[in-house]
Amino acid sequence: MDKKFDIVVIGSGMAGAVAALKAVDSGKKIAVIRKGYGSTALSSGAIDLAADPLGVSGQPLEDSREWQKNVREIARRDEFHPYAVLAAGGYAPDLELAQALNFIYRELQGVGLPLFPVTGRNLTLVNPLGGFKFTGLAQESQGKGDLEKLKGKKTVILGVKNLPDFPADYIARALNDSIGSQGYGPFSSQEIEIPGFGGGTTFEAAAALESEGVEKVASLLAGISAGRHLIFPPILGALRSWEVTETLQKSGVLDFSESLAVPTSIPGYRLQAALDRALEKRGVSILNGRVISATVADHRLHSLEAEIQGQKEKMEGQNFILATGKYLSGGIERDRVFREPVFDLPVFIGEKPVKEDFIKDFLLREALGPHPAFRAGIRVNGKLNPLNRSKQVFAENLWAAGSILAGYDSTGDGAGLGVAILTGFKAGLEASGGS
Ligand SMILES: Cc1cc2nc3c(=O)[nH]c(=O)nc-3n(C[C@H](O)[C@H](O)[C@H](O)COP(=O)(O)OP(=O)(O)OC[C@H]3O[C@@H](n4cnc5c(N)ncnc54)[C@H](O)[C@@H]3O)c2cc1C
Repeated sequence: MDKKFDIVVIGSGMAGAVAALKAVDSGKKIAVIRKGYGSTALSSGAIDLAADPLGVSGQPLEDSREWQKNVREIARRDEFHPYAVLAAGGYAPDLELAQALNFIYRELQGVGLPLFPVTGRNLTLVNPLGGFKFTGLAQESQGKGDLEKLKGKKTVILGVKNLPDFPADYIARALNDSIGSQGYGPFSSQEIEIPGFGGGTTFEAAAALESEGVEKVASLLAGISAGRHLIFPPILGALRSWEVTETLQKSGVLDFSESLAVPTSIPGYRLQAALDRALEKRGVSILNGRVISATVADHRLHSLEAEIQGQKEKMEGQNFILATGKYLSGGIERDRVFREPVFDLPVFIGEKPVKEDFIKDFLLREALGPHPAFRAGIRVNGKLNPLNRSKQVFAENLWAAGSILAGYDSTGDGAGLGVAILTGFKAGLEASGGS
């Protein structure tokens, strides 16, 4: 296979996929190389854009749900956050994120992943832990469960017999206790049985539902669905969520949604699979392999060395995008030292380059909290070119996007996939010379 491309994108999570999809608009020959699925496929499947940085702990429903206002506030307060870095480069991250969202919305709709309409406000969606979270853009099957819209409506959390990952009774009680007094719910629970599901994970429950169970489940629900909203576990179709939805609707179950997911996550997998379909549809070559090193001279990146099906291969390109994720996907490593393994770019926590530093210095005593270690990553200029140790541009034809960037905790800050979409979109534009 010809390994010469105009643009090579390393990584196919949300950031790499958006970058490639945007760059393809320019008519250039694009390849994505990836060693597997990363954190996009493990996410809840809903796209967090910006939680309220001023949110008061213990009063979550008082938070600002206007995500563009939150983006501006994050950019103003947090100089290392990617939103602030782009703002310093002359971009308006709130407006550009809206543009990037419309772009990915159309791409995903075009390959059969229905999304809930983007509005200016975060949705409030139930998770399997008995809580909820604010999220900017959700799959249609999730967004219909926006608690704001369901205020005062009888809402039934549906448990599935032999599915321990979704304790419906506990979730309903926790929601009544935490937000019932503010007019949300009331929440109750009900257990249903999926024919052919004898126990296992959400993936096995979804497979049983898809293979033969949807009509039978719908008939079980006929008695309880009238006048109520039903929240399913996150099992409404591993790939073809719209088919499950349609069958439920045709069988008379009209008002329902599915909960957010924790790993392993069917909606996350569904999102990544839809990105793959979008890349294929737009003619982007997807290569399964691992980039191991690169040739850089005179501040230009000339080629990559990759391991593809056990063979070492050289990949040449004019421009390159690095979107390899953080710890979970291998974009940033911490194995005795902090390291970015492909280009050996310096890793930063805030202003500080870190390498052999003691990891405990970057962890809080409490397990849950804003651990600085999770904000580690590479630094970029306002155009998303990675910086070297002297804070100069490492290679003028390399851009970076997504959770590999320093300055935010992609898993915990409430802006994980939002940053990936915005920076992927910008990196795709910059690398393709588009506008
Ligand atoms: C458990 C979990 C739950 C989360 N839930 C949410 C959520 O509900 N909402 C939300 O908005 N955000 C969530 N996040 C954060 C969000 O998933 C990430 O911010 C986002 O997916 C990052 O996308 P990415 O494209 O930068 O990286 P990834 O999706 O991690 O993709 C990285 C890609 O790079 C590839 N790669 C890495 N190294 C190499 C190499 N050397 N050669 C070739 N390929 C390589 C990987 O194989 C992968 O394809 C969650 C994160 C985690 C871990």
